[in-house]
Amino acid sequence: MDGPSSSNPGHRAPYLWHGVLVNALSAVRRVSDIVDPPTICHLCGGTVRLVDKAKFYGGRSFGWLLAYECCSCSARVGCHPGTDIPLGSLADRQTTAARSAAHAAFDPIWQGKGRDARRRAYGSLAKALGLESAHISWLNSAQCADAIRAIQAGAVSC
Ligand SMILES: [Zn+2]
Repeated sequence: MDGPSSSNPGHRAPYLWHGVLVNALSAVRRVSDIVDPPTICHLCGGTVRLVDKAKFYGGRSFGWLLAYECCSCSARVGCHPGTDIPLGSLADRQTTAARSAAHAAFDPIWQGKGRDARRRAYGSLAKALGLESAHISWLNSAQCADAIRAIQAGAVSC
């Protein structure tokens, strides 16, 4: 799995994308896990390009406009607001559904339990999955199923 790794925020330089400022320093600074944009789809080997999310929703854009999309299988992932930094790894339909199910099981563990609860819950999830770090937006569908099993077994806490 290609997990998040931290790097120098200066690595993502600001630029204009169809007249919209991308990677303003203030936006990049809000991102804790800065990773390189995907270029090749890890699901099918297709070419990945940066797109306007409005394309998925019949011209309407929700939230920040940028996303990555695989030209071959249409797997996609959004970007952190104001940046071209991916939120996770590309997800096809199956992966998107698996991640939603994992969130539904995982989020109640930490929600409403204070500022640091989410981070602690993710630490616990990583340990349960035998991963160095875990974030649902980086899990594949098999890992999401493992996460749900671990949560149901009571192995994840915060
Ligand atoms: Zn693909």
